[in-house]
Amino acid sequence: MSDADLLFRPDLLAKYGANGPRYTSYPTALQFRDDFDPADYRRAAADPGASETDLSLYFHIPFCDTVCFYCGCNKVITRNRGRAKPYLAQMIREVELQAALFDTKRPVSQLHWGGGTPTFLSLDEMSTLMAATREHFALQPDDAGEYSIEIDPREATAHTIAHLRSLGFNRLSLGVQDFDPVVQKAVNRIQPLELTVDVMNAARTNGFESISVDLIYGLPYQNVKTFSRTLETMLLLAPDRISVFGYAHMPHLFKMQRQMDEATLPTPAERMALLRLVIEQLTEAGYVYIGMDHFALPTDELARAQAQRTLHRNFQGYSTRADCDLIGFGASAIGKVGDVYAQNAKDLIGYGAAIGAGKLATTKGVRLTADDRLRRDIITELMCNLELRYDELEAAYGIRLPATFAAELDRLREFERDGLVARSADRLEVLPAGRMLVRNIAMVFDRYFGAQQPERFSRTI
Ligand code: SF4
Repeated sequence: MSDADLLFRPDLLAKYGANGPRYTSYPTALQFRDDFDPADYRRAAADPGASETDLSLYFHIPFCDTVCFYCGCNKVITRNRGRAKPYLAQMIREVELQAALFDTKRPVSQLHWGGGTPTFLSLDEMSTLMAATREHFALQPDDAGEYSIEIDPREATAHTIAHLRSLGFNRLSLGVQDFDPVVQKAVNRIQPLELTVDVMNAARTNGFESISVDLIYGLPYQNVKTFSRTLETMLLLAPDRISVFGYAHMPHLFKMQRQMDEATLPTPAERMALLRLVIEQLTEAGYVYIGMDHFALPTDELARAQAQRTLHRNFQGYSTRADCDLIGFGASAIGKVGDVYAQNAKDLIGYGAAIGAGKLATTKGVRLTADDRLRRDIITELMCNLELRYDELEAAYGIRLPATFAAELDRLREFERDGLVARSADRLEVLPAGRMLVRNIAMVFDRYFGAQQPERFSRTI
């Protein structure tokens, strides 16, 4: 049986596929409370227990030149490049405000610029932001940290890539979605192949350590024949990581998606065929299926970390770094400090007003309970390392896991009968047929899921 046959079980995907969280946090953002304010965040930052980990810094740059109709990100569409300037000043002010709350000697082992389109900033603006960050936080010497940036190849040249490398970035994540011109037109993202090739070549020439590429299946006009060509082309370019996300059609939440003709979207059966194609083509080419939407070359650090059971998950997805405290900068950015998640105002006006008044822009958040922490650890182990070893959690939390989670383990009996998981006296293992459904397995341990509105989440398959 091929790897694809083991992973891809259409009967089980149809039976278990449902709407559910991606668990970049637990509890999910739906549990963030409106009465969480900057004072709560300050208290979390001042907690001495929080000061032992490295720091991770996330910067959200929300601007995009044009809209991609499928997009569900928090972004601001504008052709006016001048809008970056005041926002940049606000982010730099926020760097100062946040730096005052933390022991800034803590090494910054992760840094990420996301969006929107981070390269909407000019080269000088990028330099200014990185210089301010370096002035206030302990950025690491080259390659001691995992410093990544999301790149839209339509908004970057070889010169941009060289500049980013000189600023300290060593990992790139490229948005591609599909090379097919018909699909690109339907989603309003015209991106000739040459642009992607140029950026990837420049990244290699400049010594970027890891190149990751995002594709999407389930977009208008996609079919097995054309998407197979996209995958073939991508395999020739040989990125270290490939993520293939299932398009989540949620026009009730994202109005721009109404610009696409629903009749041109693949049917559920066609989506399944596309998913099977992805699994087959990438695993046959030697990529390791990490989980959810992610594939990596066996030499890539994600694949190695998973083999060593040291993979983690954060707001950017899978990560090899141990659990850092995460400081989020910019509108809508989410931070995780100790046992607290906190989110900045989502809109530019609210964000700018708070920062302009010399205040933190925190508008929402949640402090985890002991039960949340335990469940977060369980979900992380299942999602990242595909196994739950009871003794590790029992020692950490002083529980007997089978007794504490008797109801959850009971609910997993059906998953076990279907071959998604295997249970023994001391561990729960996600089997190959369960790997694509790992979100559904994790959902069994989510205390809040039943009370949340499933339509707020994307389909797990
Ligand atoms: S997909 Fe990226 S470039 Fe397109 S609108 Fe969304 S954030 Fe902007």
